[in-house]
Amino acid sequence: MSATKPIEPAAGDAGQAPKINIERLKQSVLALAKFGYDDSINGVNRLGFGEADMAARRWLMDTLTEEGFDSHMDGAGNVYGRLGPADKPSITMGSHIDSVPASGIFDGALGVMTALEVLRTFKDAGAEPRWPLELLGTSEEEGRFGGMLGAQAVSGDVTPEFLMGAHDADGNRLADAMTAAGLEPLGALEARRSSGSMRAFIELHIEQGPVLDTIGKTIGVVESISGVWKWIIHLRGKADHAGTAPMNMRSDAFMGLADFAHAIPRIIDEHGTDKSRLTVGKVELKPGSPHTIPGEAIFTLVGRDSSSEVMKALEDACHRSLSAIARRHGLRFEYEQVSWLDPSDCSPKITDLFEKLVRERGYSYQRMPSGAGHDTQFMTRITDAGMIFVPSVGGVSHAPDELTHWEDIEAGAQLLADAAWALSHEPE
Ligand SMILES: [Zn+2]
Repeated sequence: MSATKPIEPAAGDAGQAPKINIERLKQSVLALAKFGYDDSINGVNRLGFGEADMAARRWLMDTLTEEGFDSHMDGAGNVYGRLGPADKPSITMGSHIDSVPASGIFDGALGVMTALEVLRTFKDAGAEPRWPLELLGTSEEEGRFGGMLGAQAVSGDVTPEFLMGAHDADGNRLADAMTAAGLEPLGALEARRSSGSMRAFIELHIEQGPVLDTIGKTIGVVESISGVWKWIIHLRGKADHAGTAPMNMRSDAFMGLADFAHAIPRIIDEHGTDKSRLTVGKVELKPGSPHTIPGEAIFTLVGRDSSSEVMKALEDACHRSLSAIARRHGLRFEYEQVSWLDPSDCSPKITDLFEKLVRERGYSYQRMPSGAGHDTQFMTRITDAGMIFVPSVGGVSHAPDELTHWEDIEAGAQLLADAAWALSHEPE
C-alpha cells in the first residue's frame, strides 16, 4: 500500500480546486461495473460495441443529461459530457468504457468515472470555468478490432478501409458490430475533432504494472507512451523422424526459435534502452508431434520502446539475428510486420502541470513512461495531452483481481480535478 498524505489546499493563480467526493466516485465506479459484470469470475466483460458496452454508454449519457450536463454520443460511439459553453475549446478528461474479456472494474472505467466526478465537483461548487470542461468516454480501446478506435476517430486517424475491413478474432466484422450497436460505421469519420476545439486532454488510468506499488508511490506522472510493433515470424526447416535423424543433420525450427529467444537480452543490451521490451508471446510448432522434429515454428514477436529510432533499431537487430540463426540451423526465415504504432510523448506542459500540482498536494509520485498503449497517445496528435497513473496492487491488470486502493484513487482523482481546474481557468 502506498502512503497518501492528507489533502491540503492547492495553491494556484485560479485559486484552489474544490475537493472531490471519494464516496460518490466509488459509487460511480461500482455502478459502471454492473454493466457486463460476471458473477462467476467476479469480473467485467464489456467488449467494444457489445451489448454491455453500449448499455453502459447509454447509462452514462442518461446520467449526464439528468444532472444537467450536455451529453451526446459521436459517430464512433464515444460518449461526451460537457459543463460550459458549446462553442469554446474544451478541457477534455477521459478514458475508455470498454474492457477486455474477464477484466477488473478499474481499467479505463476509473478514468471515465473520475472525469464524471470532476464534472460534478465543479458543478456543485458553482464553478464558472473560462474553458468548458468535458468528459470523454472512448470506444473500443482494448483492441477487439485493433484498439483505440474512439481516440483514433477523434484524432482523425481512422480510415474508411479500416472501418469497413476490420474484424475481431472470431471473424465478426467491425462494421457489423457498429451497425448492431446502432452506429453507422463510416459515421466514425465524423467524430474527428479539430485541434482548435480542444485545449487539453488529461487521462487518469491504473498503472497496470508493478512499478508504483513496488516503490510505494501514489501517483505516476506519465512522460511518454511506448510505441509497439508486431511481427509474425515463420522459421521453416524439415519435419524428420525424431529417432532416425542424427542431431547434426537436422533443420529443427524450434532450435532456431530457442536460439533467438536466448539472443533477446543481448539485442536489448546492444540496441535498446531500459524502456525496450521484446516478447515472444504466441508460438505454434508444426507438425506438433512428440516424435517428429518441428519442421516449422510460427511465432509472434512484439517490440516496444518510447523512441521510434530505438524501435527501428530493435527491428533491424532482430532481423539480423533471425537471419543468422536460420543460416546456422538450415532454416528459412520469413516475417511479416503486422502493425506499427508510433510512440508518443506527453505534452511537457501537462506533465509539468501535474508535477507542480502533485507536489503542492504532497502526494508521493514518480515520473515514468507507460509501457502500455492508451487513448492519450492519439490525443497528443491534436492537443496538449498527458496522463497520470494510480498504483495497481501487485501490478495485476486485465484480470478480475485488478485492484487499486481507494485512498490512492482519491489522490489521483483530486489531482485530475486540480489539473482540470488550472487548465480551465487559464487566460486566453
Ligand atoms: Zn485501459
